[in-house]
Amino acid sequence: MREQLLIGGKWIDGSNSDRIDVTNPANGDVITTVANGSPADVTAAVEAAAAAQVEWAKVGPRERAEVLRACWQTLIDHADELAELITLEHGKPLADAKGEVGYAAEFFRWNSEETVRIHGSMSVAPSGNNKIIVRHPPVGVVTMVTPWNFPAAMITRKLAPCLGAGNAAVIKPAGETPLTALRVADLLQGAGVPDGLINIVPTSNSGDWFDAAVDHKATRMVSFTGSTEVGRILLRRCADRVLKVAMELGGNAPLIVFDDADIEKAVEGTMTAKMRHSAETCTAANRIFVEAGIAGDYTAALGEAMAATKTGNGLEDGIECGPMINERAISSISGLVDSAVSEGATVVTGGSTLDGAGHFFEPTVLSGVSPTAAITHEEVFGPVAPVITFTDHDEMIGHANDTEMGLAAYVFTEDLAKGLATAERIEAGMVGVNRGAMSDPAAPFGGMKQSGLGREGASEGIYEFCETQYIAASW
Ligand code: NAP
Ligand code: MG
Repeated sequence: MREQLLIGGKWIDGSNSDRIDVTNPANGDVITTVANGSPADVTAAVEAAAAAQVEWAKVGPRERAEVLRACWQTLIDHADELAELITLEHGKPLADAKGEVGYAAEFFRWNSEETVRIHGSMSVAPSGNNKIIVRHPPVGVVTMVTPWNFPAAMITRKLAPCLGAGNAAVIKPAGETPLTALRVADLLQGAGVPDGLINIVPTSNSGDWFDAAVDHKATRMVSFTGSTEVGRILLRRCADRVLKVAMELGGNAPLIVFDDADIEKAVEGTMTAKMRHSAETCTAANRIFVEAGIAGDYTAALGEAMAATKTGNGLEDGIECGPMINERAISSISGLVDSAVSEGATVVTGGSTLDGAGHFFEPTVLSGVSPTAAITHEEVFGPVAPVITFTDHDEMIGHANDTEMGLAAYVFTEDLAKGLATAERIEAGMVGVNRGAMSDPAAPFGGMKQSGLGREGASEGIYEFCETQYIAASW
């Protein structure tokens, strides 16, 4: 296990003497402690990154691509070890953690292929007198701030294209999950990433950490994944230096089931969209709209599937839902369930916390939820499925879009034309039609409205980490 800061290719304790406890949410035990980065450590990391980036940008795309390919290989070779580490500090079931490692690694393979295809262009100005040359140099030093819900993938989804494009990174993993971040960085260094390109500085003081990163003149970009609330704070701070930003923020995904849907497939898709990774995903189905004709049967089947979900320590065999990340999460989930019930919802299954040392909540289905209930306006971030019945399609679409978020949405119907037409009317960056999972490094991930700015993955992902330079030339 790596428990120090990684700055300029060296593992150091940093200038703070206190350390950060990392706990196992399944039982509350302290797993270990990690070094606690100070603003001075952040400054040192930005400087190391700046020095390394200048050399890295001179390395040819093919050679950079081959380093990325080696990064993919090493993450795959260490998948079991990394998955256990993710489950230990995050709590998600081991099978989900393995899925996360595969997804995390794939960003390196995909971006190794994109690295040699960062295209520019040349065109002739309309006057015919000038040539317009456009190129995409690296942006420089990138600050990354990442959440705890995907301790590996939320880093690699940024880091792979960042390195591929010729940049360096200074990374703040979430305080709850620094161990995976540190071990991933360790493996990537071992795979041949030059010293100084990846700096990992956990901290217990995010605000001061971020100020030190933003105030350094070498920092050129901030790439953030986390809540919309924190995203707004970071955006305001980035304005002081007019930094380039990429923001992957919160979600409030509607999941729509039309009455011509195949109930079995719709329930299976709902379970995937709701429950993967212990129901702590930004794309999680948060509001389930079911057409009246199918609502009774669908809700009963969903209730059975949720009631049968095995909840417990993610390291144990057969567990399908692990603990929530901390006690704050549990009280937020309980509060939302209680408020839905006080607004008239019925508990079909679950509804309570589970006793014991860990932070567990029962897989829960609520029916008869009002489309305007408090629970429909907030990200539940837990195993709770609020079911809302609809009859009028336009009214339902109005409710589905009545949120400041616009990350993900899901539609289930046996009529593909209806599914696609509905997808077009939903204000979300990603819509699954008869699919409960859509994350794919080859597809553009990101949100509309207050769910974010920019896209990760696909071909556009690497350009987020590039500048655009136009050279006017005539000859
Ligand atoms: P969060 O509370 O917003 O925290 C995200 C990161 O920001 C953490 O590293 C956190 O550090 C840091 N942070 C908090 N306050 C900060 C400040 N004032 N200055 C600098 N950094 C600060 O989110 P979370 O609870 O970790 O993750 C859950 C949220 O992330 C959900 O809203 C989810 O939807 C969203 N998410 C979005 C995507 C996406 O791709 N759109 C993907 C995954 C998650 P500390 O907590 O250590 O202080
Ligand atoms: Mg923890």
